[in-house]
Amino acid sequence: MSQFWSDLVHTLTPYVPGEQPKVDNLVKLNTNENPYPPSQKIYDAIASVNDERLRLYPDPNSDNLKTALQTHYNLNSGQVFVGNGSDEVLAHIFSALLKHDKPLLFPDITYSFYPVYCGLYGIDYQTIPLTENFEINPDDYAIENGGIIFPNPNAPTGRLLALDAIETLLKNNPDSVIVVDEAYIDFGGESAVSLIQDYANLLVVQTYSKSRSLAGLRIGYAMGQQHLIEGLERVKNSFNSYPIDRVALAAGVAAIEDQPYFDDCCEKIIQTRNNLVEFLTANGFEVIPSSANFVFTKHKTLDASTIAQQLREKAIIVRHFKLPRIDQYLRITIGTDEENQALCNALADIIKSA
Ligand SMILES: *Cc1c(COP(=O)(O)O)cnc(C)c1O
Repeated sequence: MSQFWSDLVHTLTPYVPGEQPKVDNLVKLNTNENPYPPSQKIYDAIASVNDERLRLYPDPNSDNLKTALQTHYNLNSGQVFVGNGSDEVLAHIFSALLKHDKPLLFPDITYSFYPVYCGLYGIDYQTIPLTENFEINPDDYAIENGGIIFPNPNAPTGRLLALDAIETLLKNNPDSVIVVDEAYIDFGGESAVSLIQDYANLLVVQTYSKSRSLAGLRIGYAMGQQHLIEGLERVKNSFNSYPIDRVALAAGVAAIEDQPYFDDCCEKIIQTRNNLVEFLTANGFEVIPSSANFVFTKHKTLDASTIAQQLREKAIIVRHFKLPRIDQYLRITIGTDEENQALCNALADIIKSA
């Protein structure tokens, strides 16, 4: 019945998210969720709005959440935009700020939603190969462009780009918006938020889905100078003027207020990541240096898809991308220490019986 589809729909290749299996007792290390539960303060905040006010529309401007974020990141009023997960925020960014006559640039190995949005919004793009070590080289972006976007740390490599390299990109491309997608910045990276007052072309995107343990609630945000945020608000208010629901608004504010819990979870994940890297390195794996809550790794002799399959047989799921340059790599999310131990035991078995 696809004759009912618009021409656009015929051309789309939708994003395929990592599997969310409907079975229990899996060690689920495939979608970079946080292994720790949300802060108790978030449950309390949700309980406090679970009442008859749910019949009312939420605040269309999400003012409380924006204020909490502005204060937390030391920004001015009008410098924060919020949406239903950073995927929605990114969608508005693509249509409001990245659709121009010249091509949008992003790395060849990166978050695979970017080309999907280009298809949806009719944006011309060009991919720039990462270096052999999977690094972003700012000099490679010194070509005509209508914008630049990349995750920092990059996904799925986990590699961090230093702030001075980001400044080089910002200075070399004063007429393009540079979008830094910081979904994983809280696991050891330095945020580009500190550069916002100095660069009119910088937009930083973050999410509650990874470091704040709230992937199920869908909250993301963008930070930049007021003219960029205004462009996003125009698109958002032409699409869905009530993006963040009442429950998510309350939880989003509470999450920002519980800094000690947040710091503790991030520290634990970094510690577990260090342990995993040590195990992998000692067992024949090469690991890209990671500043994220996952590692990107390949075994010196064993095939990646075979390892993934054997892990699955042991009820552990990791992510394998059948894509050029990275088909021998696995992306493994950092779990709890117990999950990590189960992973290491399973990998040791697989290597022993190979
Ligand atoms: C997870 C992820 C997102 C999306 O996060 P949501 O806020 O859950 O939509 C965006 N960018 C990158 C690079 C991610 O890994």
